[in-house]
Amino acid sequence: MAATADTAYQQCLNQNCRATLAVDQTAFSCPKCGDLLDVIYNWDKLPVPKSLRDFEAKWSDRLNPLSFSGVWRFRELLPFAPPDQVVTIGEGQTLLQTADKVAQFVGLNTGKLKLQYEGMNPSGSFKDNGMTAAFTHARMVGARRVACASTGNTSAALAVYCSATPFGFKAIIFIGSGKIAYGKLAQALDHGALTIQIVGDFDDAMERVKQVADRLGIYLMNSVNPFRLEGQKTIMFRVLEASGWEPPDWIVVPGGNLGNSSAFGKAFIELKQLGLINRVPRLAVINASGAQTLDQLVTHHGLKWQGGAPEMTVANNYYGELDSKGLKASTIASAIEINRPVNLKKCLRALDFCDGVVRQVSDQEIMDAKARVGAGGLGCEPASAASVAGAKKLREEGIIAPSDTVVCILTGHQLKDPTATVAYHGTDQENFEKVLGSRGVRRAGFANRPVVVPNDLDDIIRTIALYSETANA
Ligand SMILES: *Cc1c(COP(=O)(O)O)cnc(C)c1O
Ligand SMILES: [Zn+2]
Repeated sequence: MAATADTAYQQCLNQNCRATLAVDQTAFSCPKCGDLLDVIYNWDKLPVPKSLRDFEAKWSDRLNPLSFSGVWRFRELLPFAPPDQVVTIGEGQTLLQTADKVAQFVGLNTGKLKLQYEGMNPSGSFKDNGMTAAFTHARMVGARRVACASTGNTSAALAVYCSATPFGFKAIIFIGSGKIAYGKLAQALDHGALTIQIVGDFDDAMERVKQVADRLGIYLMNSVNPFRLEGQKTIMFRVLEASGWEPPDWIVVPGGNLGNSSAFGKAFIELKQLGLINRVPRLAVINASGAQTLDQLVTHHGLKWQGGAPEMTVANNYYGELDSKGLKASTIASAIEINRPVNLKKCLRALDFCDGVVRQVSDQEIMDAKARVGAGGLGCEPASAASVAGAKKLREEGIIAPSDTVVCILTGHQLKDPTATVAYHGTDQENFEKVLGSRGVRRAGFANRPVVVPNDLDDIIRTIALYSETANA
């Protein structure tokens, strides 16, 4: 990774503006027009690998923290930082698992569904891929106080990177009231972040953190930060790596603030540009029905990238409609409970390049898919299961074929949100109603009920015989 000033810079996404900023500036939006910023590389001046296989040499260099990291192993493809400034805690040791039981549920042929398990990251979600890159940039520019608004996982990752690294970072976290899963709140508190719970939802918290970052000069870690997306590109590099560098037919990902889908698109744009892949997978972005902005805008209002000039009035009218009706995002999948996705425009670019589609799935579909993912061996949180529920929907519509190779991104770990899982499987009706029934989820589904047995050895033995026979039948 060569030094940076002349090889990497930031550029406004707005094609009528195209303002540029040095790589070591901290604007987080275009100073001229307010649009999103991109990290751009002068690849001609950089040592780019001739083949993706060249990255395999890093596997024998695991005592080097940069080669050990599943993000920085691909540092030649995100060369914005001097190597001695990289902040890494060994993120990205994740797994691409072939999941045949889940494939059956989705309606795919054996061997065709793979789950990219990003819950294996140090903080338990894919957010670490982006955090390592954003913290690296924060270190480059000498930032100390770092802040984010979060539905939970961004704040958990931010708290971990502050507490696990020796560079004096101080975490400031904004969360909406009553909207954060306990596993995630536990992490923010346990890792010592200043946790500010404001009365409002995520979209409110997001608005405030931008104002505060601006006023106090605090470094902003939300996915408006273009450096986070650079780190999140590597999820796709690892999917390719684990597939013998052969792109799958489909990448399916839940959509919240749309940082991940945007990053995936940028990854494939750059790989294609560099001649490192021939074929680009199709991208499916899955909303929850309770936070369906992207699906509404793309599938139903025809919003498109249009060569960099999307008709953003369509989005603004939609937001106006939400406001006038007083509609707030509401889904059990709290990580994607977002009505104003900040990376909307970049996601449109990704959908355009990857011949993408968008769908929405209900909380019922999400919880059922989550239970099937769990029964298939990898536990995920509700938002992650939207990818599997979405793949099933696209399979039923005939858009995904049974013989297609499909990679669903499991964005976060099962233990992030035990409340939803226990309500779904458990026998406590009151708890079920409170957590899931109120969202229209029915009792049936794929619940694995705990069996209540008197404290009596014969009863216990009879119960085991009864249930284990049923399971084998
Ligand atoms: C953040 C998050 C998402 C949403 O990702 P975006 O990049 O905001 O679209 C989905 N699932 C989990 C578990 C998350 O933490
Ligand atoms: Zn601009």
